[in-house]
This record gives sequence, C-alpha cells and structure tokens, in this order.
Amino acid sequence: MKARDGMYIDGAWRPAAGLNVIEVVNPADEEVIARVPAGTAEDVDRAVRAARAALPAWSATPPAERAARLAALRDVLAARKDEIAATITAELGSPLPLSQAVHMGAPIAVAGSYAELTAAYAFEEKVGNSTVHQEPIGVVGAITPWNYPLHQIVAKAAPALAAGCTIVVKPAEDTPLTAQAFAEAVHEAGLPAGVVNLVTGLGPVAGQALAEHPEVDLVSFTGSTAVGRQIAATAGAAVKKVALELGGKSANVILPSADLARAVNVGVANVMSNSGQTCSAWTRMLVHAAQYDAAVELAAAAAAKYGERIGPLVNARQRDRVRGYIDKGVAEGARLVAGGAEPPRERGYFVSPTVFADVTPEMTIAQEEIFGPVLSILRYEDEADALRIANGTVYGLAGAVWAGDEAEAVAFARRMETGQVDINGGRFNPLAPFGGYKQSGVGRELGAHGLAEYLQTKSLQF
Ligand code: NAD
Repeated sequence: MKARDGMYIDGAWRPAAGLNVIEVVNPADEEVIARVPAGTAEDVDRAVRAARAALPAWSATPPAERAARLAALRDVLAARKDEIAATITAELGSPLPLSQAVHMGAPIAVAGSYAELTAAYAFEEKVGNSTVHQEPIGVVGAITPWNYPLHQIVAKAAPALAAGCTIVVKPAEDTPLTAQAFAEAVHEAGLPAGVVNLVTGLGPVAGQALAEHPEVDLVSFTGSTAVGRQIAATAGAAVKKVALELGGKSANVILPSADLARAVNVGVANVMSNSGQTCSAWTRMLVHAAQYDAAVELAAAAAAKYGERIGPLVNARQRDRVRGYIDKGVAEGARLVAGGAEPPRERGYFVSPTVFADVTPEMTIAQEEIFGPVLSILRYEDEADALRIANGTVYGLAGAVWAGDEAEAVAFARRMETGQVDINGGRFNPLAPFGGYKQSGVGRELGAHGLAEYLQTKSLQF
C-alpha cells in the first residue's frame, strides 16, 4: 500500500524527527501493508508551531473563502472516493461497499455541510447595544480513533476550518494511511500551508504531546473513556477547552405497538455494521415481555445471515477484548442464541455476529461498551421499566425508539438520557448535533452545534 514517509506539516511532507515506525496491518489477513513514521513530541511541536503561524491569516480569511476551500475539500474527497475507500478497507477491514457508502459518504456529506454552513453562518450579530463576534478558538489538537477513520477526522477538521481555526491531527495508530490520504486531499483542495497538519504516531507519545502542548487552545478527542478522562484532566490543569466524544451503550427500545420484525432487523444491522465498532451502536435491544421470544428468534436469524460479511475487527487486541466480553456474558448467565467466542482464526481478526438473550440490566454485557458485533436483548415489563433500563448505564450517546405512532416514540425519546435518538429508523443527518449525555462525552460534533465548539464569543458594547 502507498504510504508517505513523513509528516504533513506547513503544507509539505517533512521528514519525521525520529526513526521509529508504525506497521500498518490488514486485519482481514494480518499482513503488514505499510509503514508510517511514529511521531515524537518534536514532530508535534513543529506541527503546532506551523498551525500557530498560519492562524492569523486563516482566521482573517473571509468566511466565503473558507467555505470555498471546504467545498474544494469535499470535491477532492468525492473524486478520490473509491481509492480512499480501498485504503480504509485495507487498514480497517471494513467491507468495500461499507467503506464507499458510509466511511466515505459521511465525511463527504459533512465537508459539504460545513461549506454551506460557513457561507451562511452569522459570525456577527447585534444584541441590544452590543455586537457579538464569533471568533475562532485558535489552534486545535485533534486526536481521532480508527473506527470511522476519515469521518472522525473530517468531523473535527471541517468545523475547525469553518470557524477559522488551524489544526494538528493525530490519527489512530491502526489507520494512519486514511489520515495521510486526508492530508493529501487538504493539499489538493488548496488549503494554505500550516492550516492543517498531520502527525502520525502512538497515543501515549504523539497524542499526549499534542494534548499537553501549551500552544494548543482546544483538544478535540474521540476514543475511549479512559483516555478521554486523562485528556480532560491534562486540559483542565491548563484551563484549556476540551471536546470529548467517548463511548456508548445505546438502547434500541421497541415499544409494543412497533413493527417488530422491522425494528429487530434494522436493530441487528445497526449493531453488526462496521463489525460493531461504532460508538453510537444500539447494543442493547429492549423488548416487551410479551414479544420477547419472537424478537429473540428474529434477531438470531438476522445475525446468522451476516456471517463473515461484516468483516474482521481492527486488531488482535480488540478481537480478544470482544471475545472476553462474550465469555463474560456466558459466565454471568446470558443465553447465546447466535455466534459466540469461537477460537481465533488462523488469519484475520474475525468475531462472529453474536446475540445474547436473557440479558439482565446489571450484567457486564449490558453495562460496558464491547465495541464488537455483540447484541444484548433485554426484557421489559412496562414503559417505566423500559425507561429505567434504557437510562441505567453511565453512557448516553445515542439510541432508537420504535412505535406504531410517531408521537408515542417521540414522547419516550424525550425522556431518554441520551444525545441522539432515531425514531422508527431515522436516517443519518450531517447537520444534526452528535454527542453524549453523561459519560459519553462533552460537547457536540456536526452541524452548527459542532461549529460552535470551535468558536469563542466577544461582545463589543456601544
Ligand atoms: P483510544 O482511546 O486508546 O484511542 C483513541 C485515540 O487516542 C488514538 O488516536 C490514540 O492514539 C489516542 N491516544 C491513546 N492514548 C493516548 C494518550 N495517553 N494521550 C493522548 N492520546 C492518546 O482507543 P482504542 O484503544 O483505539 O480503543 C479502545 C476502546 O475505545 C474501544 O474498545 C472503544 O470502547 C473505544 N472507542 C470509542 C470510539 C468512539 O467513537 N467513541 C472510537 C474508538 C474506540
């Protein structure tokens, strides 16, 4: 696989400060497909300085021109869609149609949405005898995960650029090639030197150096709760703004009036997609006692149909972690109705689509984020019980409600402690704010709310 032997800093590919490399592995066959440099604190420092130097000119660039660059970025990503999708498939393991439709489709839509938003956004408004100005927060440090490797970068970079910020991206170790393709697209789209910079590297080295850098004004992080907590503590000590997108354990609540077969089938697809490596996945299906057995049967049949088509997990550590959770589910008394923790394959980090029935709310598999193709089906007795179970985790990222009557679903959704709820299978909306209640995070991504994260306000009184 094609890989850049350097860091994208100040508008060009520069040699890394150190000699260490990261091996990129194809999770479907465990072959090493490329090597990229493992950045150090020195690389991060160079990148942050470049971003700082580029800030005055970029933040003074009229919003219409920033919008034009974002539109150009969207167009480059769209033109390179198939090629970058193939890169994502090679390093993440996702099936190619998923890489094309979702892994590329979402960031192209998001870049386009920010091109439009920037052109229309009120960066200045009058409030009584004041003018209120929305100004860029400054230099952004973006630390991103591997699960949606391009989308996670674009969901931070596009609003940052829209706001007039400059940015340093530290992508996940497992998916640096997609990040390099993103940097190439930025270059091709004509973003000025230093506005977007890329340092590949290990989390505890390059990621930590970025989070700690005194010249970074906002750290935007997506990933595990453990690392998010650490980053928030570091940023807090420096009184630096932080945005966190962390884990989830979202509930798919099927009310008795719903179309059961549709709700179950879409629910299973939602969990199995991307091999379950989606922070907003509806990993807990809540079904009324009277419909429980029918739902379990439908879900087991739906899961069995996926087979190997869902692709492998990203790496051996994630596979072993997921297998550990499946073992725990069995040990705690849940009933396996599809899949299971089969022994690791000789090649490829595959885990079979797995469904557990008779899951109770206090079980580990009903409380912790598994990040694999594992669905837990829970039984509820009435609506109050369903709500208590739905809200009974430390997370609150996403969810779903199904009902025969939309108003009934909406009424339930409004009582859920979660940042985003799909009503009867609602579609992805790149303008809808995405982010967590409770321990699922701080702040919102996407749309105008996502843009606001990268702005600070100044008021002038007359
Ligand atoms: P992680 O939190 O370790 O990695 C996310 C990013 O943070 C990567 O770029 C990594 O290099 C960086 N990082 C790691 N340690 C760091 C540190 N000390 N300082 C600064 N940056 C650091 O996540 P992971 O190990 O790749 O995945 C583990 C779990 O995280 C998953 O099983 C899942 O539960 C969760 N996760 C959530 C999301 C999400 O979208 N919310 C995405 C990926 C993973």
